[in-house]
Amino acid sequence: MTADVIDGKLFAEGLRGRIATLAAEFTAQSGRKAGLAVVLVGEDPASQVYVRSKGKATLAAGMASFEHRLPADTPEAELIALVEALNADPAVDGILVQLPLPAHCDEQKVIATINPDKDVDGFHVTNAGRLAVGQPGFVPCTPLGCLMLLKDRLGSLSGLDAVVIGRSNIVGKPMAQLLLAESCTVTVAHSRTRNLPEVVRRADIVVAAVGRPEMVKGDWIKPGATVIDVGINRVAAAEPGKTRLVGDVDFAGASEVAGAITPVPGGVGPMTIAVLLRNALVAAFRNAGITLPEGTI
Ligand code: NAD
Repeated sequence: MTADVIDGKLFAEGLRGRIATLAAEFTAQSGRKAGLAVVLVGEDPASQVYVRSKGKATLAAGMASFEHRLPADTPEAELIALVEALNADPAVDGILVQLPLPAHCDEQKVIATINPDKDVDGFHVTNAGRLAVGQPGFVPCTPLGCLMLLKDRLGSLSGLDAVVIGRSNIVGKPMAQLLLAESCTVTVAHSRTRNLPEVVRRADIVVAAVGRPEMVKGDWIKPGATVIDVGINRVAAAEPGKTRLVGDVDFAGASEVAGAITPVPGGVGPMTIAVLLRNALVAAFRNAGITLPEGTI
């Protein structure tokens, strides 16, 4: 059997199209554009690439982008003052502080300063709590993107066995909460889990968010399962001096057994920015007190 490949790039393009339509509707109704502020401290090359593509995607969706680039030695108090100013700015609906921050800045303290209703990354403890108890809030972009792909593929997830590998606050834990809210029977596996292949073999849904290249093997997968590979790992390519991206799942092996699987790249990756735009637009509708048309994004 060869698994269907879940095209995250295509799904993300569709989502971005729906967001652009709704963003125009928001502007027509509110008289202003929905606004997303991104704060980058320092010159980390990967973060610079992410921030640039987030800014471009925001503008392409017809939303306002506010970029704040601060030098690496910016005092923590200055960063917190900027976040407070963005909290108070009515043109800013969503605030994203690009992580990692330089070592002298306390990430938890900075995130705690963001108004939870502008916390489009969903990292504030208030939003983690809202997710845990089933209140509306903001959910971290990557796991929400994974859930969208799963629901698009499977429809109802009710009663399915789901195994999430990884328990980070950014991916694994919120993914588990989302699947639980969809009435899956959820197992969260991690670095101390005993007999991981056996645990994964029970799963109708596997979400791998580990950061270990091709760790999940084809013979760990239950026949017909849906496999979502969050991992982004750079490894040496066959050609000397070149590198390539692989996921946390052995794609070739798992494709022989799974019903459907996300590729790396082109699976979960493109969903993250699309969901960020979605969260920013949802924030704009909520902050302006305008009802978002049901089931659109
Ligand atoms: P993390 O390092 O914070 O967490 C990794 C988790 O994997 C930990 O909970 C750990 O317990 C678990 N783990 C480590 N070794 C294990 C093992 N041998 N067996 C079972 N579990 C093990 O990482 P993260 O931030 O959650 O990211 C995970 C992966 O997802 C990384 O490859 C990262 O690059 C990728 N990622 C992708 C996106 C995207 O947009 N597609 C977004 C975020 C993260």
